[in-house]
Amino acid sequence: MKELIIATKNKNKFREMRTAFKAFPFDIKSLDEFKELPDAVEDGKTFADNALIKARFFSRLLNRACLADDSGLCVDALEGMPGVYSARYAVLRAGADPERAHDSPDDANNRALVAELDRLKIDQSNAAYKCALALVALDGSVLQTEGICRGVIKKIPRGSGGFGYDPYFYVSDDKTMAELTLEQKDKISHRGDALRKMVEAVSDWGVER
Ligand code: IMP
Repeated sequence: MKELIIATKNKNKFREMRTAFKAFPFDIKSLDEFKELPDAVEDGKTFADNALIKARFFSRLLNRACLADDSGLCVDALEGMPGVYSARYAVLRAGADPERAHDSPDDANNRALVAELDRLKIDQSNAAYKCALALVALDGSVLQTEGICRGVIKKIPRGSGGFGYDPYFYVSDDKTMAELTLEQKDKISHRGDALRKMVEAVSDWGVER
């Protein structure tokens, strides 16, 4: 059976990606099964760049096929920010060099987002979660897909599920992503969208489901 490494230590992402690929004859492993791996340097300008950087890095390091993702929140009123800096937005907004900044806790990033909207006197804005996936096979060939989930960012949080910006991301007038069950989120999420496209791409590639 072919090994496929899913390049994440995030248990929710691993669960979602493994479930999506369960019909394929892959022996699926997460990075948690390998000790003391270095981090990939995610210095791409787009989600697609970063997903490919990560997938190539771990595929070469572990000599196995590898699937990686990169995702984030793009707010229209902030010209697409925080975008690829979503995980580092709090330190970035505080003036840190984006290439050196480390990830901030979700609540700090959420406070930075609300503070930026306050500064610009914006109550709410259209926004989108975006996700890029890259699969690098052992022979170096690449499959890439992208997914999107549109919504509205408002400054009043609701719900305690999900992670990241979910309590501020309204999927309807009065419901945020943080109020959905995992199954409901998977159905509409950017990652779910990108994963369904990747499953199609892998089956078109000739790997039997
Ligand atoms: P990464 O793809 O794990 O690097 O995620 C980057 C950042 O984007 C996360 O730290 C979150 O702030 C944000 N993000 C990505 N996907 C989601 C989501 O589904 N909900 C909330 N925030 C998300």
